Amino acid sequence: MNQEYDYIIAGAGAAGLSLAYKMLHPFFDDKRILVVDESLNPSHNKTWCFWDNKTPPFADLMYRQWNNAEVSISGKRIKSPLNEYTYYCLRSIDFQEQILRRLKKESRFDFLESTIEDLSVSYGIPILQTKSNSYQAEFIFQSCFSPWNSSTDQPDYPLLQHFLGWEVKTTKPVFDDAFFTLMDFDDTFDEGIAFIYLLPWSKTSALIEYTIFSDELLSREKYEEKISIYLNNRYNLKPIDYKITRTEFGEIPMKDRPHKPWYDTRILNIGTVGGVTKPSTGYTFSRIQKQTDQIIRDLQTDEKPNAHSPSKTRFKAYDLWLLQIIHDHPSEAYHVFNQLFKNNSMDAIFSFLAEESAITDDFKIMSSVPYTPFFRAIWQTKERLLEI
Ligand SMILES: Cc1cc2nc3c(=O)[nH]c(=O)nc-3n(C[C@H](O)[C@H](O)[C@H](O)COP(=O)(O)OP(=O)(O)OC[C@H]3O[C@@H](n4cnc5c(N)ncnc54)[C@H](O)[C@@H]3O)c2cc1C
Repeated sequence: MNQEYDYIIAGAGAAGLSLAYKMLHPFFDDKRILVVDESLNPSHNKTWCFWDNKTPPFADLMYRQWNNAEVSISGKRIKSPLNEYTYYCLRSIDFQEQILRRLKKESRFDFLESTIEDLSVSYGIPILQTKSNSYQAEFIFQSCFSPWNSSTDQPDYPLLQHFLGWEVKTTKPVFDDAFFTLMDFDDTFDEGIAFIYLLPWSKTSALIEYTIFSDELLSREKYEEKISIYLNNRYNLKPIDYKITRTEFGEIPMKDRPHKPWYDTRILNIGTVGGVTKPSTGYTFSRIQKQTDQIIRDLQTDEKPNAHSPSKTRFKAYDLWLLQIIHDHPSEAYHVFNQLFKNNSMDAIFSFLAEESAITDDFKIMSSVPYTPFFRAIWQTKERLLEI
């Protein structure tokens, strides 16, 4: 049986649910929208953070927020107030629970809990296939499948951001909950860039992640060993002093891959598979909001979504150069990070990484870090830049 919709949202994660939520706009009052995911059960498996200088999206769902950041590199701790930006954090379980509850009140939405086996186009009509049924729509927005490969898809710098985190409760108050730790670099690690990322929920609980930018995952024990050493060295916490209440594992692409907006005719890629992840940082959540806002605007004005690149060309170039340095010369990347954090305010860095900086600000940032790795990166990536 073929069931017809105006839109199908294939994948109800950060991107799919953000888009569905924005379709509560009156423009979509008379539309029929199907939301499909293999599981519509909210899960406490991702902690999404981002920074914003305005009221953040989903403001009432924020779990914590901070106005002070800390970075530690080469034994030096840099504590910075955030004057322009706030660092926000929301939990996937709260996001999914609240958004699904809201959407289920609206008759325009149908929900299907099923594995999507295939997405295809027949006679110009996009079709979603499950084991037992097929569904068609004017447009499908999909966050489940990577777009098809082509020769230019093979990354020159196949980096991953991979991490394992422990949420811990401690027997004594040790965390400074006014500061989150963006990066506490581990200069004993030489197969990539490694650091601790720490979000203090209170003085006695925190999420502590050992994070690496490299090609290869580590064994689970390795990440755990690093976290336990950190808790001991920094906070004098022995295993008896804390309880691990939850673990979180993640793997985010940081690759120099081309942005492919379309999976097929009338099937738009969204979220991570839509290439919106910022290649040099792995941050995706804010960029998903920009992408889904744009889709809503396009549907309202043109009745169809359009292809938009998530970044301006100059930011694509900066990302590519940094990926090249991290991938091919990790020890030089440490020097770049060192100078970056030493010579710039956290607000200036956040503005640059959010691609909100003016070109003059970009020059200030660039001139504050060692030049040689960048000159070499510019030379070595000149052909690749044309492909992505
Ligand atoms: C642990 C973790 C923490 C992260 N933290 C941050 C952060 O702090 N800040 C940030 O900016 N980014 C973060 N990211 C990166 C990014 O924001 C998240 O991965 C985000 O969830 C991406 O949203 P998405 O919708 O593209 O993918 P997902 O949220 O993964 O959604 C995809 C959905 O598709 C469904 N699906 C997949 N295949 C099928 C199928 N065949 N059939 C049916 N359903 C299917 C899945 O069940 C899932 O619900 C993090 C990623 C991870 C993994």
